[in-house]
Amino acid sequence: MSGAIVVINAGSSSLKFCVYFHRAQGLAPALRGQIESIHTQPRFKARDAAGAECGTKTWPQGTALGHDEALRHIVEFVHAQLPDEPLLAVGHRVVHGGMEFAAPVRMDADVLARLEAFIPLAPLHQPHNLAPIRALLAARPDLPQVACFDTAFHRTIPEIAQMFALPHALHVEGVRRFGFHGLSYEYIASQLAHFDPIAATGRTVVLHLGNGASMCAMHASRSVATTMGFTAVDGLPMGTRSGSIDPGVILYLMDERGMDARAIETMIYNASGLLGVSGVSSDMRTLLASAEPGAKRAVDLYVYRIGRALGSLAAALGGLDAVVFTGGIGENSAVIRERVCRDAEWLGVELDPEANERGGPCISTADARTRAWTVPTDEEWMIARHTLSTLEGRP
Ligand code: ADP
Repeated sequence: MSGAIVVINAGSSSLKFCVYFHRAQGLAPALRGQIESIHTQPRFKARDAAGAECGTKTWPQGTALGHDEALRHIVEFVHAQLPDEPLLAVGHRVVHGGMEFAAPVRMDADVLARLEAFIPLAPLHQPHNLAPIRALLAARPDLPQVACFDTAFHRTIPEIAQMFALPHALHVEGVRRFGFHGLSYEYIASQLAHFDPIAATGRTVVLHLGNGASMCAMHASRSVATTMGFTAVDGLPMGTRSGSIDPGVILYLMDERGMDARAIETMIYNASGLLGVSGVSSDMRTLLASAEPGAKRAVDLYVYRIGRALGSLAAALGGLDAVVFTGGIGENSAVIRERVCRDAEWLGVELDPEANERGGPCISTADARTRAWTVPTDEEWMIARHTLSTLEGRP
């Protein structure tokens, strides 16, 4: 069954896509691209497997393409680029699978309705993730679609580590730590054995440091604890998200500042984290290059909070054999890796500065008790693989 698998990652204002060839020898990247600003001034860009630009289009200012039209453009573009390649299936990144979906699932109207029930758990992501699925179910009911969840990898987290110390009925109802970035963690887990058998079988903390940021404690490559919680705003400070704060702060903002849920949502999702603390930027590169005191403050807090979380996750694991950096910051910033590793010396991490500057993959000294790695993540490939397995009826 050779052909193409399309992977869609739909956000509130953009649709990213990747196309893979499915061949006897496995999956191979073919195209990737995105449409940005789909509600205001859509811009389309695509590149081939060699990284050469193979498609661009800009719509006039004020064009509201929406998810349906944007998806149609992508599907038509893929067909025009690869006219002889049958489209086998479309895989989608979906942020929330709730307690019900611990594995990827083939989409139909019934599954869509069950996933819509999780919209209140992830109102800023889930509706956008589901929009292209709904559009394709209507336009191409024959085309297999598979949803892959950011929460699924964390369904192995023990009950106690999922629990908030709230009245227990809320836990039963689903107010619990779900965890996110699961497709990234699953990809890293699938790679661990190739470079470090001890990391694959032992106690490993993976740091996914991108615009969104979280950390996952893995035992034998299975998630046992993570920093994100009921929503993706918990845990580490991120580009614009606050990470964990005292819930009393929310009450204070309501009582003393008269802020309602929407205003607080905007503050903790869009105006906090690196941006809010620095007052300069949400972008780590900009902060590291800036001489502003706010930039230093934000980077210091970021590194400090990673260190605190690492200690906590090492405690959950009962020790630490390896740390793995991934995500835009984790993969590219030697400075952040160095600072995190220096703070983690008490956990047996010993940085090899030259290896770190080179970008690894191993960035710890040969005799370090706890090894440190940098490994590029690939959530799209993970989705493509899941889509294929689901299509072929394999687990
Ligand atoms: P997303 O979560 O949106 O996928 P990425 O994983 O691409 O985001 O991460 C984006 C972050 O990575 C930004 O803060 C960016 O500044 C940072 N980043 C990328 N390259 C570097 C670099 N060389 N040094 C420091 N930070 C970097």
